[in-house]
Amino acid sequence: MKAITVTPGTPGSVSLRDVPDPTPRTGQLLLRVQKVGICGTDMDIVNGFYGEAPAGSPYLILGHESLSRVERAGPGCEGFNEGDLVVPTVRRGCPENCLNCRSGESDMCLTGHYEEHGIKRLHGFASELALSDSRYVVKLPESLSEVGILLEPLTIVEKGVQQAFRIQNARMKWEPSTALVLGSGPVGLLATALLRQMGLDVTAVARKPAGTPKARLAASTGATYVDVRDVPLSSMEGKFDIVFEATGSTAVALEAQNLCDTNGVVSFVGIYKSQAGTEDAGKVFTNLVLGNRVYFGSVNANISYFSKGATDLVNIRKKWAGFLEGILTNKVPLDKAESAYGPKGEGDVKTILEMGSG
Ligand SMILES: [Zn+2]
Ligand SMILES: [Zn+2]
Repeated sequence: MKAITVTPGTPGSVSLRDVPDPTPRTGQLLLRVQKVGICGTDMDIVNGFYGEAPAGSPYLILGHESLSRVERAGPGCEGFNEGDLVVPTVRRGCPENCLNCRSGESDMCLTGHYEEHGIKRLHGFASELALSDSRYVVKLPESLSEVGILLEPLTIVEKGVQQAFRIQNARMKWEPSTALVLGSGPVGLLATALLRQMGLDVTAVARKPAGTPKARLAASTGATYVDVRDVPLSSMEGKFDIVFEATGSTAVALEAQNLCDTNGVVSFVGIYKSQAGTEDAGKVFTNLVLGNRVYFGSVNANISYFSKGATDLVNIRKKWAGFLEGILTNKVPLDKAESAYGPKGEGDVKTILEMGSG
């Protein structure tokens, strides 16, 4: 079969090649991959910053964001049938089976020895056929056959938002009405839609003029779109009950702390570049204390967020026709896959690979 592989640690090693078909073991679903999403994590792997091949393999098959149909559901895959539309989660628990991994929350793994499809020690889904343990696979309704590829990025939002609500509701009475979303990439746009769907008054902020596709998509959910080059972040201090930081910019992350209101919460989901700051650290901690604020980080998502995300994708699609489709600006056929890992164009939001026919 055809697969998109890299030699981890070697920049520019991405290649479309023939590899042996995978053979499912008991409990594993054989998947016919339909679509694969490409995000910053893939680009970091392609550029050699991280990624780890499975033991004994000279290459890693890319692709952690995927949408598949079940090709074969053998023994141990009860509940699945050939043709089901499905999405597998990304992370699998650590060999030590730590407290969180054995509780079904490998996204909260304590040892760091977890494995991740398409990232760390497990092949990904950027191949014509792929495998996943059936316990980590969610079924999607047919209405999501075009946009279900957005489920994995949505789960990053689901976890960051749900954990913010759990933290807040556990420590006080909380009736949030305003949210700020920083960043208008796919994760920022999905966060905007999810928070709007929850009934919040959302301000979406990015460095793009109002007429650009990302800005228009954000505004189409009823959010207020703001170009930070017109309205500086500092003018928004203390205005929001929940702040969702999805730019991955260190400078923006530092400012994000000041943007939530008293008793507010800031959820960080970016990966931030090392940068020595001139920020007044004393002021940061004093603001944290005097404002009863919570700043927390969130990575990856377990299957509970995939299940909730599948429901929310259906609702978002019903509420704002064309919004999810609008995020998928670049659809690249498998035979041109190598080009999909190049630089993005100005109006591009998200690139996906079309792996086969639907
Ligand atoms: Zn991703
Ligand atoms: Zn663990």
